[in-house]
Amino acid sequence: MDLSEIGLIGLGTMGAALSLNIAEKGFRISVFNRTVSRVDGFLAEAGPLAERITPTRSLEDFVASLAEPRAIILMVPAGEAVDAQIAALRPLLGPDDLIIDAGNANFHDTNRRAAEAVAQGVPFLGIGVSGGEEGARHGPSIMGGGDRANWDRVSHILEAISAKYEGEPCATWMGEGGAGHFVKTVHNGIEYADMQLIAETYGVLRDGMGLSAAECGEVFGRWNDGPLRSYLVEISARVSAATDPETGSPMLDVILDRAGQKGTGRWTVIESQQVGAPVPVIEAAVAARNLSAALETRRAGQELFGAAPQSLPDGTLSLDDLEAAMIAGKIMCYAQGFDLLARTGAQHGWALPMPEIAEVWREGCIIRSDMLNDMAAALRGEPERNLIFADYFADLVARNHVALRKVVSTGALHGLPMPALSAALSYFDMIRTERSTANMLQAQRDFFGAHGFERIDAAGKHHGPWASGQDRP
Ligand code: NDP
Repeated sequence: MDLSEIGLIGLGTMGAALSLNIAEKGFRISVFNRTVSRVDGFLAEAGPLAERITPTRSLEDFVASLAEPRAIILMVPAGEAVDAQIAALRPLLGPDDLIIDAGNANFHDTNRRAAEAVAQGVPFLGIGVSGGEEGARHGPSIMGGGDRANWDRVSHILEAISAKYEGEPCATWMGEGGAGHFVKTVHNGIEYADMQLIAETYGVLRDGMGLSAAECGEVFGRWNDGPLRSYLVEISARVSAATDPETGSPMLDVILDRAGQKGTGRWTVIESQQVGAPVPVIEAAVAARNLSAALETRRAGQELFGAAPQSLPDGTLSLDDLEAAMIAGKIMCYAQGFDLLARTGAQHGWALPMPEIAEVWREGCIIRSDMLNDMAAALRGEPERNLIFADYFADLVARNHVALRKVVSTGALHGLPMPALSAALSYFDMIRTERSTANMLQAQRDFFGAHGFERIDAAGKHHGPWASGQDRP
């Protein structure tokens, strides 16, 4: 039997697709799955690719089928399953055998596993894989983390299976330890926000302008030919146009408005709070999903207060206004995401390659869009600078923020919820206000806690007259 160049454990949605992708690119791969019967089913569906796939029915056989030094991809649920799988594998492996966790791990777990691997002298990589099943099968975006030498050992395989943007592989090493999984986490946080911005705009089209699902689909389709061209806008057009085979109704109209989530958006927000890099558009998107899940509360709210009017008088907003608001909102969201990446990277000692992060997201992943190409160019100039200050994006913001304000204020007047678009507008207004209202916060903090404040006209730390009771009558 020929030994395999790589192995994969976990033939679920992602693992099965990734294994077929690896085999298709000419690599021999061994596969194993906890529920062993799934291996046979997988092989039966592999078609001609089965000749490059070695099915195994025990961990021992799996390990024995791999060429040394071995490389093993884990594609199992994040968390305990990964630790359990590593613990089961380790006694069977040699000191140079590499375990690669390709699931959606929390990057703190990856940092811990990487540190444990270093202490034990065994190689470990944590890689983020984006693109869903389709991406895994035909070319995902891959964000690598861990020891660079270990990445170099398998990068030829990961680059071969990754998506390509104008021939360039969308697979990049981001840094040590959990850097790859952190970049993937922020990718997902941005994904939440991108999706929410689209959903809010859909709300204006549907409830404000009275468009049918099919008409909404046509609008998204048109926007996909402009600056908003992206996978998410494209699939929004497609899901809007789809018909439910059971009822004949538009598919969107029969889908319950209760959104699921697996936690990566929440992790992004938690991390932003840890490092003090605000991501309010992403926060709004996570909160919106949480509120969507509270269906009973929303029902009770509508019963008690009545539904907001929502319907807009003719001519209140144009489709151009909505498109421009989405452009401005999207720029704010990405500016926040990249700012979080830069600040967290600095805190963890990672020199995160900012332009390359934008580049690796240009194809294969869920947030892929044309705008990421311009972001890569802007970040190449000054990677640490907030994206909205880069010439190209400053110009786009200048041309579109008025429409964002018009859309958000219209939404407020007519009861169309726009948490992410509103958060984008407030972020913009705060970031362009030199004299903010935090002087009031500082005065309050000094009053009740004697925390002191800086003055605009003198250096050092000061206290207000309230400290000595002079303000009191
Ligand atoms: P699935 O639920 O489709 O498959 C999970 C796989 O893991 C199955 O093969 C399952 O085996 C195995 N497994 C589950 N628990 C254990 C365990 N305790 N020990 C060993 N094996 C176990 O998941 P996905 O393929 O969707 O996801 C896999 C990983 O990829 C996750 O981390 C996910 O977050 C990530 N991911 C998923 C994406 C997606 O779009 N689905 C996109 C990007 C990343 P068994 O057959 O025995 O149940």
